[in-house]
This record gives sequence, C-alpha cells and structure tokens, in this order.
Amino acid sequence: LIDRMQGFGATIFGEMSALAARTGAINLGQGFPDTDGPTQVLEAARRAIADGRNQYPPARGIPELRAAIAAHQRRFYDLSIDADTQVLVTVGATEAIASAVLALCEPGDEVVTFEPYYDSYAATIALAGAVRRTSPLRFPDFAIDEESLRAAFSDKTRLVLLNTPHNPTGKVFTRAELELIAGLAREHDAIVVTDEVYEHLVFDGGQHVPMATLPGTFDRTITISSGGKTFAATGWKVGWLSGPAELVTACATVKQFLTYVGSGPFQPAIATGLGLPDEVFTSLAHTLQDGRDILTRGLREAGLAVSEPQATYFAIADVSSVGATDALEFCWQLPELVGVVGVPVSVFCDDPELGRTLVRFAFCKRPEVLTEAATRLARLA
Ligand code: PMP
Ligand code: GLN
Repeated sequence: LIDRMQGFGATIFGEMSALAARTGAINLGQGFPDTDGPTQVLEAARRAIADGRNQYPPARGIPELRAAIAAHQRRFYDLSIDADTQVLVTVGATEAIASAVLALCEPGDEVVTFEPYYDSYAATIALAGAVRRTSPLRFPDFAIDEESLRAAFSDKTRLVLLNTPHNPTGKVFTRAELELIAGLAREHDAIVVTDEVYEHLVFDGGQHVPMATLPGTFDRTITISSGGKTFAATGWKVGWLSGPAELVTACATVKQFLTYVGSGPFQPAIATGLGLPDEVFTSLAHTLQDGRDILTRGLREAGLAVSEPQATYFAIADVSSVGATDALEFCWQLPELVGVVGVPVSVFCDDPELGRTLVRFAFCKRPEVLTEAATRLARLA
C-alpha cells in the first residue's frame, strides 16, 4: 500500500457493522435506515429492471435523472442549472467527492475542512496527494471557530470541502456561517465542494441553505447530493454533483476512469423520487425527527450529555460521565456492556482531544429498535 494511504486501515463503518453482526448488538453505528423509502421509488426500480434498463447508462447519467436533478434544484432552491452541461451523476456521493477532489487538487494543494469530518474526506484528500487543513466544531453546539477557520486558509488553499447538514454532528450551517466560508474562499480564490447529502433530512422546521445559493458563489461551487439519504436507499449508490460547466467537466473527466458509470436501473428510480410531491420529502424528515427524539431522550436518561441534532441520521453523546476516557475503546466494549453499537467520533478528528469521549449514535431506525436501544443504554448510568 502506498505511503499516503498508510493508517487508513478498514473504515470504522465496516468495523462497527461487523462488530454488531458478530455480537448481535443493536447497530446504531453505520448510518443506514432499517425501513425502505417511498414505494413509488422502489416500484420504479423494479420497473426499470423489468423494462431492460440494465446496460451501461450514458457517461454523465441518464437524461431523465439529470433533468430531474436540475428541476429539483429549481423547485427547492430556485437555482437554475443546465441538465446537459452542469450535472454529473456518480456512484453515490462518495464518488462525487472523490472525482471533485482528484480533479481539482494538485499534489501539495491544501483542502480546508471542518473536523470531525466524514471519513472519506481524509482518505480522498490523501489519495490526491493534497494536504488537509481542519477547523474544529466543538461539542455540544458545534459552532464555527472563526479564528481557527481563518488560520486554516493559506495561499496554498485550493478547495474548501464543506458538509451541511453535517455528519457526524447533525449541525446545519447557518447562512451567516456559510457567508463567512464563502468570503474566505473568495479571498483565497478557492473552490467550494459542498456535500449536501442530508439536504432533506432537517428537523424542527429548520432550513438547509445550499452554498451555491449565496450571491456570487455558484461560479466556484460544486454541489453534491445523493439519493441514498433522501429516499432511504443507501445501497443504490446514486449520487450527483452540479456546478459551473467547466468544473463539472473536470470532475467528469476523472469520474469516467473511476467507475465510468453505475447504478443503471436505479437512476430512473431516483429520477422518479426527485419528482415526488413535497409531502414525501417532509414526511421522511418527520419520521427521522421522531427517531431523534426517542434516542436523545434515552441518552439523556442514561445520564449522558447529548447534542441536539438539527438534521441527519446522527446524535452525539459525551460518554465521559459514565467513566469512559477513550471513545474508540468504549465503542469496542459497548456491545458487551449493553448490547448496542455506536461509532467513536475520535476517528473523524485530527485533534485527539476533540472527539476523545464522544460517540455517534444513528437514529435512522424503527421506533421500537430505538426504544430498546435507549433502554439498554440506560444501563450505563
Ligand atoms: N457524505 C456524507 C456526509 C455521508 O454521510 C455519506 C454517507 N453516508 C456520504 C457522503 C456518501 O454517500 P453515498 O452513500 O451516496 O456514497
Ligand atoms: N455515511 C454512513 C455513515 O456515516 C456510512 C457510509 C459508509 O459506510 N461508508 O454512517
């Protein structure tokens, strides 16, 4: 294995799902729903297979999905994008992230991101030979530390890799925070790659603001999303990116040699999903919000300090109050202690102090599963 990939090992999601399978513990580690999404979307996939849409789709994605992505951006955000030149369908958001970073970073370029960060960011930046510069989001409110963010930028900054709503914190970046980031990107002539896969999973009537809607930012912004989260179909791996034609073409150039194309029959199914009425999108968020409430209440009753996620699949608890001093070690013991699996936030951090006693729990599960998990976690108290 090449030097720059040393230390990445197996992903924490795979390790923790294997631990859950091995021990029979409730898996609140890896973020995937235990209920299927809208029946219309599932039906559309079955139909696509039956209709023989099983060969290579076009390199940039099937036209009806690209049109549906453009229509979605217009409908929800009043953004105009051209389906032919400004959209690229990818194999999940993961490939969109990899294509963008590999297409846009020279070795030695710097990428600014927040920590904790989604695990593929660090690995992809390393693959590109680029350098990660991070700024912390601190438990429990995860506000931007402006001074450290400014310090993370330099004359070598090439990209900002943003994630809003944010995994693992459940934070939704405010318009003011996005303006600060956009201003710094402009000042340093950096491109913003913004991962918005949780765009529809926002709670309490909160508002997701896409970076590309801020005045003057579209021309330097690649926006990424995925059907996996919006339609509770994480195994389908239909993702996409959009932005100015020149940047999208750069990403497409790399993408064609990563997978060429993917997810054939799932592309028309996600196109169907993107065209469903607003109620479908909001009802998914409401169901998740109920799950959040069950889990966070349970964690608090177990005596843990818990953040209040505004979005996503995830809540973070501080396990120091039950005597834990190392989240990774604690997560390995948790199945034996109480029969639950979580993910240590420390593995998403460069600063060893930042996530030292923080554990992420997924609440994208059925209410009875979350209630049982909460009962088990209460035994920690
Ligand atoms: N970005 C974030 C922040 C995520 O949480 C995930 C997945 N869980 C991804 C990207 C990857 O999305 P996909 O499964 O569509 O590749
Ligand atoms: N994004 C999911 C999570 O954060 C997992 C994705 C994966 O397993 N790579 O849990």
